Amino acid sequence: MKRIALAADLGGTNLRVAAVSESGEIISRSSVATPPSKSFDDVSRTIIELARELIKDDGERESIEGFGIAVPALIDQMTGKIIKAPNLPDLDGNDLAASVALGLGVSAVLENDATAAAIGENWKGASKDFSTSICVTLGTGVGGGLTIDGRVFKGIDGTAGEVGHMVVEPFGHPCSCGSNGCLEQYASAQALVRIFYELRPDYLGTMIGSETAISSGDIYEAGVKGDELAIAVFKRMGFYLGVAFAGIVNVLNPEAIVIGGGVANGWDLFAPEIERQISARAFQQPAERVKLIRAKLGDDAALVGMASSVFAFERKAI
Ligand SMILES: [Zn+2]
Repeated sequence: MKRIALAADLGGTNLRVAAVSESGEIISRSSVATPPSKSFDDVSRTIIELARELIKDDGERESIEGFGIAVPALIDQMTGKIIKAPNLPDLDGNDLAASVALGLGVSAVLENDATAAAIGENWKGASKDFSTSICVTLGTGVGGGLTIDGRVFKGIDGTAGEVGHMVVEPFGHPCSCGSNGCLEQYASAQALVRIFYELRPDYLGTMIGSETAISSGDIYEAGVKGDELAIAVFKRMGFYLGVAFAGIVNVLNPEAIVIGGGVANGWDLFAPEIERQISARAFQQPAERVKLIRAKLGDDAALVGMASSVFAFERKAI
């Protein structure tokens, strides 16, 4: 009988569920829009329904070892309950793992989505050959996961790795976390659009029209074609990422910084500036040591990471 783990990646926009083999291969998958109500009951029920369909679809008899669910939230390490999910506030204080476990009859575990992505990249992706690395996800927000000496480091309360909320501009743009000038305000998809409008008066020759709402993807496409404004926007993003990473390099002396998420598609436009800032700001030895690399697993990183957590728990239990 084949052993599989169920894994889910719950986002503010999409919910994806997969069955993953012991070797980290995604055997089957399913995806729907996150329930519009974003209520705890609807989210929980939809996860259970998607998982049931996946299990039913599989012809072969399989042993389900557990269900790992990546959520965009802080999770209480003692109770397993969600402390705060900024984009899905109805989940705050709820026990999603218990609800799903009850509905499906399998054990379930939650993990922060950026931590899950780091676990996935460590297991099967870009950081698998490194014992100390940082995995940063650039998307709607900026998430992070730390791996130190081969183990994901969560901190005493499980909140470690919030690279997106390192302050890079003390009197900068207000952040949803309550602080000002967090990295997330300079390196997320939304930040790129805001910086675009801030810099626009200085680049009147830009090819990007102002009539319609622009996206970070529009800015990237213009940058690839040589648009000076778009290039300046990504360079500014690279500058702030480099400032934050230089501090991390000095504190942790990591082997690699892995960058994933949708905004990482603009790599060619922002990565050189990150390297420039790390060289200029960090100590020479750790700056020369650290490798800046792109994530390998794409959207599957958190799913693969949650499967790893399920199998690792099984190994521990034995
Ligand atoms: Zn913040």
